[in-house]
Amino acid sequence: MLEVLKLTHTYGDQTALDDVTFEVGESELVSIVGKSGCGKSTLLRAIAGLMEPTDGEVRLSGRPVNGVPDDLAVVFQDYSRSLLPWMSVRDNVTFPLKRRGLDRTARREAARSALEAVGLSDAAGKYPWQLSGGMQQRVAIARALAYRPSLLLMDEPFGSVDAQTREDLEDLLLQVRAASDMTILLVTHDIDESVYVSDRILVMGRSPGRVIADLSVGLPAQRDRIETRELPAFVHLRSEVGRLVRANVSSEAA
Ligand code: ADP
Ligand code: MG
Repeated sequence: MLEVLKLTHTYGDQTALDDVTFEVGESELVSIVGKSGCGKSTLLRAIAGLMEPTDGEVRLSGRPVNGVPDDLAVVFQDYSRSLLPWMSVRDNVTFPLKRRGLDRTARREAARSALEAVGLSDAAGKYPWQLSGGMQQRVAIARALAYRPSLLLMDEPFGSVDAQTREDLEDLLLQVRAASDMTILLVTHDIDESVYVSDRILVMGRSPGRVIADLSVGLPAQRDRIETRELPAFVHLRSEVGRLVRANVSSEAA
């Protein structure tokens, strides 16, 4: 569904991404983990068609990405810049849906159900600046879910929410994944989270930014906050990813 081919990007003389190649299949949920500065956000921006990479190519369903594809939604790391301050929460969520060709009633229903899913039913009439940072980020997540993109890109989307909400949103992501055929690429620096929600984990190393491991998670699809985390396979994989992130080199090289 998504192909990233020999993607390379330099900022001035600094190589942020070096020859990054991977594929993501239809309806897969893949996490990207790695230390700060390893190029995760750069990679997501290139996939979203928001910047032109120095070299290499991104393909969506076989077609090269030049410019932002219609069938894509992005949840950015920086929530403060992602919502329109002069629109209510409800309008922020419904606004992009016009491009989906939904009528007014269908747009409102999609917004209602997405806001309910992120626990913000009561905030629909408020403005973004009347909400906490974590709530604003949940609005951005609701907007992306309501859009029902075939590819959802998320850049550390749960970084600004409290621990309890973060757990709820991780479970929401698993539900969305089970109920739709959305393909999801999630950037996170939380190793525990990456193992809990994903089908696969790409570990990135830095200087230069590159993929150093591609690990299949292989846990049962039905996940549970307590039970899944107690499984030996979970504990083992979490340690392995942690080691790779810290070592910054691939397991073969180590
Ligand atoms: P991550 O999201 O993994 O923390 P980034 O993709 O943001 O990494 O950054 C990768 C590297 O590229 C970092 O060294 C960062 O300083 C640099 N970088 C990112 N964006 C820019 C930019 N717009 N101009 C110059 N350098 C940048
Ligand atoms: Mg980043």
